[in-house]
Amino acid sequence: MHLFATVRLVFATLVLLSILWNSVWEAAVADELVIAPLVATARRAGLRLLESDHLVLATDRPARQGDGVEDLPRIFDEAFVSWCAHFSIDPATRSGWRAFGCCMAQRELFISIGLLPKEIPAFKNGYCDRNRFWLVDQSSPDYRRHLLLHEGVHAFTSTVRSLNTPPWYTEGIAELLATHRLVDGRFEPTPIPLRKGDVQQLGRIEKIAELRANGGVPLLADVFQTPANEHHDLTAYAASWAATAMLAIHPTYAAMFAAIEAGPLDQEFGVRLQRSRGWSESRAGRDFDAFTDELDYGYDFSRSAIDWSLGKPLASPQRIVVDSSRGWQNSGWSVAKGESCSLAVSGRCTIGVLPASAAAAGTKDALALESEAAGISLRWYRGRPLGRLLVAQWALLPGGEASHRGFVVVATGEDRTLTASADGVLYFKVNDAPGELAENSGTLSVAIAPVPRSTPGD
Ligand SMILES: [Zn+2]
Repeated sequence: MHLFATVRLVFATLVLLSILWNSVWEAAVADELVIAPLVATARRAGLRLLESDHLVLATDRPARQGDGVEDLPRIFDEAFVSWCAHFSIDPATRSGWRAFGCCMAQRELFISIGLLPKEIPAFKNGYCDRNRFWLVDQSSPDYRRHLLLHEGVHAFTSTVRSLNTPPWYTEGIAELLATHRLVDGRFEPTPIPLRKGDVQQLGRIEKIAELRANGGVPLLADVFQTPANEHHDLTAYAASWAATAMLAIHPTYAAMFAAIEAGPLDQEFGVRLQRSRGWSESRAGRDFDAFTDELDYGYDFSRSAIDWSLGKPLASPQRIVVDSSRGWQNSGWSVAKGESCSLAVSGRCTIGVLPASAAAAGTKDALALESEAAGISLRWYRGRPLGRLLVAQWALLPGGEASHRGFVVVATGEDRTLTASADGVLYFKVNDAPGELAENSGTLSVAIAPVPRSTPGD
C-alpha cells in the first residue's frame, strides 16, 4: 500500500513536471517578441524602415527605384491574409500581430548595432526567431521577396501556431505558403508555381526534375526523416515543399492533412498524420513518386491524381477512351509481364499551346492544334511530340534505385502492338505538360486486344 502510494506520488509529480515543462517550452516557442525596442535601435542606427500593419522591415539597402523593396511590407500583409486562411484563422483576431525583419546588404553592420545577436546561428540566406527574422539581400527581386515571405511564414507559424514540427513540415509549409506570383503587383498564392518566370531563381521544380533524371528523388519516407541540419540544402527544401504540397492539395490527402494541421504543430505531427484514418504509407509513397515523376509548372492534382485501382485481366478486345485534358488514366485493364496486345487508335483531339511557347507564332491566345494518335511535331514535351498517345505501366524506373518507380512507357500512338514490361494496369494519356492539360479538349479512342502467345513448335 505504501509502495503504491509512493508510485502514485512519483507518477503525479512526473505528470505535473511534464505539464510545466510543456508550458514553459510552449511559452518559449510561442511568445511574440515586443518589437518596439528593435525598431528604435534600427531608427537610431539610421536604417531605412518600411512599415505596414504586420511588418516592420529594416534595411541598409539604399533606396533604388524599381527594386520592389518599398512594396515588400504591403505584399507581406497580403500574404498574411492567405496564411491566416490556410490555418482557418480570422485575420481580424490577429490584427496586432507584427514581425520585425532585417534585410541585410552588410551583415556586419547589423551585428555591430546589435540587431543580429551572436546567439543567432550562422545562416546562409535567412533565419527566423519567433516574430523576428533576417535575410541576406538578394539581387533578384523575385527571390528576395520569396525569401522574405519564407521567413515571414516561419515568424507566423512559430508564434501564431506555436510550430515546433519535424523539419520537413517546418520548411515545407514555409515554402508552400511563400510561393506566389504578383498579379498587378499584388500577392497571389501559387503553392505550385504556374510559370517559371513567376519564381526566378527558386529552382525547386528543376531540382526535382534533375533528381528524377539521376534516379535520386527522395522517397516520401525519406522526406519525413529529413534531419534539421539538412534543411538549408536545395534538395531538402524541394522535397519538403513537394511532400507538403501533395499532402495539402492532392484530393486524397487534403482534408486529412488540414485536420492534422488544425491540431498541435509539434514533434508528433508526422506520427499523427501517419495514424490518421485512411492513411496508407504505401499509397502515399506511390502518390508522391507519381507526383515527383510528373511534376512541372502548373501541375494540377485535379487533372493528374492517379487512380491506382487494380483493373481486370485483359482477356478480350476492349475500347478505351482517353481524355486529352487529363494526366495518366487507369484503363481498368491489366496485363501480365511479357504479355502482348494490339493497339488501334482513332479520333482527333485539340491540343492548346500556351502563349509562351506560341510566342514565335506571334499570338497572345493559346493556339488550338488538331492532333491524332501520333501527335504534332510542332512542339515536343519530354522527348515526344505533343499530343501523342502514350501507354504506360507503373514499374521500376530503368536506371534508378530498386525502390524508385514511375510510369514506364510501353507504347505510343504510332505502335500497333505493345508488350507489358510489368504486371499491372495499362495507363493512357495524351502527351502534354501537366500545367497545360486544361487547354486541351476531345478524346482519342483506343481499341486493345490480347495477342495470344505463339508457343514455339506449334
Ligand atoms: Zn526556412
